[in-house]
Amino acid sequence: MEQYVRLWDLVSNINLTPGTEDSIVWTLTPNGCYSARSAYKVQFMAALPCPFGNIVWKTWAPPKCHFFAWLAVQNLLWTADRLAKRGWPHPPTCQLCRCSPETARHLLFEFRFSKRIWMAAASWLSCPDLIRCLGTGRPKVPEYLQSIVRTPTSSTKGLRTAIILIAWEIWKERNERVFNNKSSLPSEIMLKIREEGKDWILAGAKGLAELVG
Ligand SMILES: [Zn+2]
Repeated sequence: MEQYVRLWDLVSNINLTPGTEDSIVWTLTPNGCYSARSAYKVQFMAALPCPFGNIVWKTWAPPKCHFFAWLAVQNLLWTADRLAKRGWPHPPTCQLCRCSPETARHLLFEFRFSKRIWMAAASWLSCPDLIRCLGTGRPKVPEYLQSIVRTPTSSTKGLRTAIILIAWEIWKERNERVFNNKSSLPSEIMLKIREEGKDWILAGAKGLAELVG
């Protein structure tokens, strides 16, 4: 009924001219002609701005790592805290330190093990200020990422790629421990990060190449 009244209001000033053919006009382009481009753009008219879209999607990384980062910034990784909320089987504590509850931010940025990896990475990336972004106190993963991304560096693009790479390798180590009962030392993980980084550079990560060249 409400829609009917609104439509009534909208058409009340329109005068019909009997005998004249209707013409259809596309109002989303200046010239009134339909274009696929304008139809595509209209789908995003109600889109909300995403503060971490650049970090995740406009950074060079393999697609599976983009997807991992996308889940991480939304707190959608299947860490113990989220598994517990669903009542699904989960490790009682973080499998890397065995003393804190496992959350994404704890796993990736806050506890001793991952901090040692980030500290080694800081010297690999010639980016000593990166260490200041770690520790506790930031509420979620995006706040950590945004703070690391703002660290002074010779290549912002390269640093963004490196962040995804490092977080990805920490996540893989967590999964090795949870599912395969295998563990590596921080120094071994740093070695994997460097090796993987070489492959990413070969595959086109120019920013990372500038940073660690
Ligand atoms: Zn832990």
